[in-house]
Amino acid sequence: MRIYKVGGAVRDRLLGKPVTDIDWVVVGATTEEMLAQGYRPVGADFPVFLHPKSGEEYALARTERKSGRGYGGFTFHASPEVTLEEDLIRRDLTINAMAEDDQQNLTDPYHGQRDLEARVLRHVSPAFAEDPLRVLRVARFAARYAELGFTVAPETLELMRQLSESGELKALTAERSWKEISRALMEDQPRVFIEVLRECGALKVLMPEVDALFGVPQPAAHHPEIDTGVHTLSVLEQAAQHKQPLTVRWACLLHDLGKGLTPEEEWPRHIAHEHTGLKLIKAVNERFKAPKDCQELALLVGQYHTHGHRALELKPSTLLDLLQSFDVYRRPQRFEEFIAACEMDARGRKGLEQRSYPQADYLRGAATAARNVAVQPLLEKGFKGPELGEAIKRERLKALKAYKEAASA
Ligand code: ATP
Ligand code: MG
Repeated sequence: MRIYKVGGAVRDRLLGKPVTDIDWVVVGATTEEMLAQGYRPVGADFPVFLHPKSGEEYALARTERKSGRGYGGFTFHASPEVTLEEDLIRRDLTINAMAEDDQQNLTDPYHGQRDLEARVLRHVSPAFAEDPLRVLRVARFAARYAELGFTVAPETLELMRQLSESGELKALTAERSWKEISRALMEDQPRVFIEVLRECGALKVLMPEVDALFGVPQPAAHHPEIDTGVHTLSVLEQAAQHKQPLTVRWACLLHDLGKGLTPEEEWPRHIAHEHTGLKLIKAVNERFKAPKDCQELALLVGQYHTHGHRALELKPSTLLDLLQSFDVYRRPQRFEEFIAACEMDARGRKGLEQRSYPQADYLRGAATAARNVAVQPLLEKGFKGPELGEAIKRERLKALKAYKEAASA
């Protein structure tokens, strides 16, 4: 049996990037031999094992054949006769289809090293089109390696275009898609992920609500970049530059979806887009089964981001409603993430990237003022049940009035 390092570990070593997880391929072995050596099997579908000590993944060399729609529609064939070259040809990109033995001798039948040097993301074979997830993977790698100058090869983009048109993308499960989307959003240049998806027509299939924002104008006074799609990408870019967590990045991507529904006669204004966008945000959330914290924040940011921008003008009662909607007393972190998303939205505008955002501290101060209202004295006065709730609200409102007066003094 011969063992090789494959995939990302080889690619990233050649790129001089840190290697985190290592994938291995085993040629010339049977399942029985692997088990006899103490490897632990994982998953029923693939001949994949975990190393008894390191816990790293070891896959038997295999070939694949498409036998139906979607990811389930694959037939795998693993046997000791399958060669390293046969295993590598089923991989997505040439730069991911290299193997290395323990002497660092490279096996590179599909010229991954050449493409690494040329900074090109290129598919290995026409079988690329057999798994639509690869469209998302290529877009994700494009985002990750954009800073190194990588671009997608025209012929690979063409295949991605065909895949997007074929309807195959719809066969992807929410779980597989979300894994790629969430990882791509956490890259340093997530906007490139969206741009590549848009370029190959996949965005229109996966997130038509986001795709629809391109070509929709906004008032130049607030949005020098005019285009809503361009704005959305800039907001996402700001979120990445400010190292925001996934929740904030997801909310940034979806915050303006309502603008895609504005009737053209009303352009460039978007009256009540915060409200009209909610059902679209909900649909995208559910399509990808985004985690609960991402779903929640996207909806709240969608609904309230203009409140955030107008924070200093809000009446104390509106400010209180905002804080109540966020349950800022029990969920302070979520409110922080809302503030962050609003700030990214404000900066994701052409020429305004460095602007200050005094609303952020103002909102934080308001939350603190409301949170500092002590409940004990109200209990001592004998308030209980719903009356206690009302009394607390009254006190918080008083605190917010005082806060606003002090802030504007
Ligand atoms: P990362 O740094 O994101 O882990 P990676 O290239 O190691 O990048 P993995 O998802 O760990 O990506 O997959 C390991 C290897 O398996 C890839 O390099 C590629 O060769 C192959 N691979 C994974 N998923 C697919 C797929 N859907 N289609 C084709 N090949 C794939
Ligand atoms: Mg990997």
